[in-house]
Amino acid sequence: MNRIAKGLRAKRFKARAGSEIKLTIETQIGNKLTFRIENAALTGLGGWHVEGQISENEIAMGDIVPESKLMWSDNEVSLGRLVVRNVKFDQDGTFIGVSCIDTKVPLLGSLSKMFEKTGSDESPLDFELSSKKYTIATFLEEDHSHDDLFEKCRQFHLLWSDCMKNPMYQYYSVRNEAHGSRVNFKLSRTKKSAQYINFASFDYLGLSVDPEVKEASKSAIDKYGLSPGGSLALSGKTKLHEELEATISKLLGKEDALLFNAGYAANVGGISAILGLNDVVFADIFSHASIHDGIALAKGKSRYFKHNSMKHLENLLKEHRPNYAGALLVTEGLFSMEGDAPNLKELVRLAKQHNARTFLDECHSFGILGPNGMGAAERDGVLDEIDLFMGTLSKAFGAGGGFVCGSKKVIGWMRSFARAGLFSVGLTPSSVAASLKSLEVHQNQPELRARLKANIAQLREGLAKLGYQAPSDPESPVIPVIVGDDQKIGAMNQVLLDKGVFVNPVIFPAVPVNSARFRFSLSALHTQSDIEIALTAFENAMQETRFTFSGTHH
Ligand code: PLP
Repeated sequence: MNRIAKGLRAKRFKARAGSEIKLTIETQIGNKLTFRIENAALTGLGGWHVEGQISENEIAMGDIVPESKLMWSDNEVSLGRLVVRNVKFDQDGTFIGVSCIDTKVPLLGSLSKMFEKTGSDESPLDFELSSKKYTIATFLEEDHSHDDLFEKCRQFHLLWSDCMKNPMYQYYSVRNEAHGSRVNFKLSRTKKSAQYINFASFDYLGLSVDPEVKEASKSAIDKYGLSPGGSLALSGKTKLHEELEATISKLLGKEDALLFNAGYAANVGGISAILGLNDVVFADIFSHASIHDGIALAKGKSRYFKHNSMKHLENLLKEHRPNYAGALLVTEGLFSMEGDAPNLKELVRLAKQHNARTFLDECHSFGILGPNGMGAAERDGVLDEIDLFMGTLSKAFGAGGGFVCGSKKVIGWMRSFARAGLFSVGLTPSSVAASLKSLEVHQNQPELRARLKANIAQLREGLAKLGYQAPSDPESPVIPVIVGDDQKIGAMNQVLLDKGVFVNPVIFPAVPVNSARFRFSLSALHTQSDIEIALTAFENAMQETRFTFSGTHH
């Protein structure tokens, strides 16, 4: 039995505060007793009888109750026979615990399905697949096979409903509208809409709302329509796609580039295409999910090195590299949860020493770092030595679509073997046109990067005054503020939301246990006053939840 099932065996439901859920039983001497139900377990219920005294010879452990009824609002369910498992006489009343014989209360049973059907708000019982004990990782890590394939979804739904009581959960909130750094969100948890300053967007340079970029995108729709109508290989490649691939290659000083309809697809397609059965990939353990997925799909073997540890990578190379044919080293230019950057000079040195190729995901750094904003490899002076440069146009460039850039022959190979591109519709012409224009605006307006830099410095300085030295790269627009405690971050987030600040709280399993954090994403669109508001709100959140940074490790 897995841990979830074991958890379910214990108490699983508890009566909601103020709910009226009653069990009526007939005792062996013919009296009808009504109990207020407190909780429900795998096969039974427990509740209190508070009206009048029950004598000890009226009900006892082991008694069989021939008939019983459970009632709440307009519902009435016959539970059939019960066995009395537990009786406790107390000055407040009598507590009984009963096991059902003919029906089942549990998650898999008909009665629990009825509780759920009454609608989560009306159900008299709260499910106890509690987010205090379980996390999404429970479902990721443990086997939840069942003869009904969808049973795990039902169980997960119950956990998720519990999670959604925590103000930290704002996933899938809906943007009603957005103007630059201001956004109107309908929060998924409360269904209420309000205006926020958005610190949760990857639109680092504000190019997604740039008038010229929007205009270019609109004209592409007029010229080419909305859909490319096929994959790039078949009929979907427009002149704009050709131009964008050439522009990116030129900017990065590479021979060729291949566009994918997302950064995710570029990693999955690019990595899986290049690794053969006898090859090996060494990747940073904190790599983005799309890198992990590309590796999982690849035929070769994989080894993961400790986050940003070139020493560990070196050890792994020494131990494992000789056992394989080709080798690929994969890391990110700027990590999306940490905002930190690897030692790329050392990575390149190790690649040369061990005859390995390099694949660098610059999704968060392309457009931001380096003298021309070409990324972490440009900043470290090793751009020419990166074999495969992977990036996205959905972050600093405010549009959408991913790419892999490299030599003509390698990109040519990917054109034929990267299935995530080959068998998927091409990037829409409007996105391609937007990217082309934003690359141009990016080159012509270096002040956008300067403004972003100033905003990063302002937030970092403000946080330092609150006692927090951000561990991220000083030029990173992603600034993680590590709070540690999963519960505390919820309470703090409520204060931030109340003050009109929308930022992403991130918890396990997205980050390691006890390293829950707020991930501030800054943009050139933020004003000084936006950042001051965020800092004041954060200070308020700290005061209201009695949080200080002294107890956290950062
Ligand atoms: N790689 C990294 C490091 C990312 O952070 C992301 C997205 O967040 C991706 C790849 C995927 O990019 P896209 O959102 O364009 O699919």
